[in-house]
Amino acid sequence: MANTINIFPSTETLSFAAEPVLEPILKTENLWKVYRTGQVDVPALRGVSIEIFPGEFVSIMGPSGCGKSTMLHVIGGLARPTKGRVFLDGNDLAAMSDSERTLLRRHKVGFVFQKFNLLPTLDAYHNIALAQHLHENGFDPHRFDVVANLLGLGTRLKHKPSELSGGEQQRVAIARAIISEPKIVLADEPTGNLDTKSSDNVLGILRQLNKDLGQTIVMITHNPDAAAYGNRVLHMRDGLVVDGANVH
Ligand code: ADP
Repeated sequence: MANTINIFPSTETLSFAAEPVLEPILKTENLWKVYRTGQVDVPALRGVSIEIFPGEFVSIMGPSGCGKSTMLHVIGGLARPTKGRVFLDGNDLAAMSDSERTLLRRHKVGFVFQKFNLLPTLDAYHNIALAQHLHENGFDPHRFDVVANLLGLGTRLKHKPSELSGGEQQRVAIARAIISEPKIVLADEPTGNLDTKSSDNVLGILRQLNKDLGQTIVMITHNPDAAAYGNRVLHMRDGLVVDGANVH
């Protein structure tokens, strides 16, 4: 029967032809964060369940104090939830020790902050290269050049943060965040300290990273114009996601 041709696909073949199920890169289940200040409990997150999928650029909007920064800190493994679970690239953060969480964060997450948080004594080159050296893949000169060119930093690399404009400092911070190809970039009000022109430039770069490199991004903002750069908006209020939690 060596020459028999089977024209009917087997069930095995059919299962291969099915659409692959896309797993979220980040998932939270009933996430709570309660800050205890003196005798008073402040519930900053009150049961947040969201999913973020690879390739998404998600904006998180909401009034001051609604829990946006807390959410970013908890999903990025910078803070522990009081209750609930966070899965980052399939890893359950709650089940990890602090040192395991630190390693996971270093390898999977790139952070961008409103105040840039660059090391003031290092020039732009070393601020970016240090992040790459700390990563298990080590320093990769080709990747460094690609990222520095993408961020338009070619002529600014020998300058320290104090010698760079706000927009340039944020571009260095973004380069540092993406240099080791993180699974997700978490940006907390990345344009909060920038003028309109630099803001537009930085938001355009984030959109380009998302479109051209497929970089998954979650960005906090309270500016609707900035939020519109993303392709999904989560609205938060009083510690809850009130709209946009699911992919429509
Ligand atoms: P947003 O980023 O939306 O402005 P936050 O996550 O910073 O909101 O804060 C949510 C709530 O938690 C607010 O009531 C805030 O005062 C409180 N909060 C945030 N951080 C702390 C903290 N370290 N200790 C106590 N309360 C905090």
